Amino acid sequence: MKTPIPDYLGQILDSVRDRDGGEVADYIPDLATAEPERLAAAVCTVSGNVYSAGDDGDEFTMQSVSKPFVYALALQELGRDAVFDAVGMEPSGEAFHELSLEEGTHRPMNPMINAGAITVNQLINGEDSSVEDRVEVIRGFFSELAARELKVNEWVTDSELEHADRNLSIAHMLRSHGIIRDNAHEAVLSYTRQCAIEVTVRDLAVMTATLANGGVQPVTGRRILNQDVCRLTLSVMSSAGMYDAAGRWMATVGIPAKSGVSGGLIGTLPGQLGIATFSPRLNPQGNSVRGVHIFERLSEEMGLHLMAADPSGTHAVRSIQSDGEDTVINLQGPVNFTAAENILDEISGREFPGERLILDVSRVSGFHRMGRKMVKEGLRRLREDGFEVAIYDPEGVVADLEFSDGTHAESVEER
Ligand code: GLN
Repeated sequence: MKTPIPDYLGQILDSVRDRDGGEVADYIPDLATAEPERLAAAVCTVSGNVYSAGDDGDEFTMQSVSKPFVYALALQELGRDAVFDAVGMEPSGEAFHELSLEEGTHRPMNPMINAGAITVNQLINGEDSSVEDRVEVIRGFFSELAARELKVNEWVTDSELEHADRNLSIAHMLRSHGIIRDNAHEAVLSYTRQCAIEVTVRDLAVMTATLANGGVQPVTGRRILNQDVCRLTLSVMSSAGMYDAAGRWMATVGIPAKSGVSGGLIGTLPGQLGIATFSPRLNPQGNSVRGVHIFERLSEEMGLHLMAADPSGTHAVRSIQSDGEDTVINLQGPVNFTAAENILDEISGREFPGERLILDVSRVSGFHRMGRKMVKEGLRRLREDGFEVAIYDPEGVVADLEFSDGTHAESVEER
């Protein structure tokens, strides 16, 4: 059987082809010559499967799509306090190239607008790094995320630098407040080269899926970022990734996302997918017109809106069986707080015949810290009520069988 997913993506692309609104970005001369009809989409699952359709081999420069990844790299290299000192995390509700800073601190509002991204770029590889070395660290990091060597497009860099007055004024403003130390030209050169790293939609889908997968690149299986770095990056993307359209985007599409002026758009669904689209014509906020439509359709049809989560954890007890002596309580699924609450609720309202209770966790896919703590406390209390308690855990998912009073749960080999 050939998987139908690429065909499905192809159908979605066809459904937006007649949307020819918007304009290609023309403030970067090289982007003004982009072929506006090019169109591609790719999806990468956290298990590392990549699906794509359309012009999926075409390379384009990342532009602002690079911002969340460099933010993640800065968090990973410097830790969150150092990064927070330099840049805030509030949505600005303004255009991407606004000359604006937070009142009082003079930090940029967030890392997704240019002021924030120029600041974050300067944090990479230490304050004294040359532009060359800094960009090389970023290029190397992006290549690791994409699992192939990516290149900086020097034409696009030069072309943007000829008209970089806006970003230069932002850099001067940052330097005048002591937010960056490099001179404005070097800072803008470094940031502009970061924006000119070239990718395909397939690269972007895999890079984005790494954020969705808590920092483990899903194709190579290598851990590249810490989980909390990914969580923070996705949070900031969800509130500020789409600039002055961020609120509407979250309401209609509901996927943390980031757009770029070359027409790229990425979206990441924590724990599930990375999605990327490419279509150069932009709406007035600088977001790809067709890309936005593709995301709206995918979100609607595939049920991807983050705020429309299905009930989870409500069937964590698979069965309770008793032979008069032993009672086996069968659990299933991931055990987070909600699942643990469900388990404790099921158990606490029940009478058990016999003396021994066996908790069978062989079908539990994993315990969240809080879930484990609550289930163990439930067992300890059952023991206090006079039952003998034991755990059947052939895969070792509970990990640690120690109760809060220092005693241990008995583990059984069979049930
Ligand atoms: N390099 C572009 C700029 O700074 C990136 C902007 C964007 O993609 N929104 O103007």
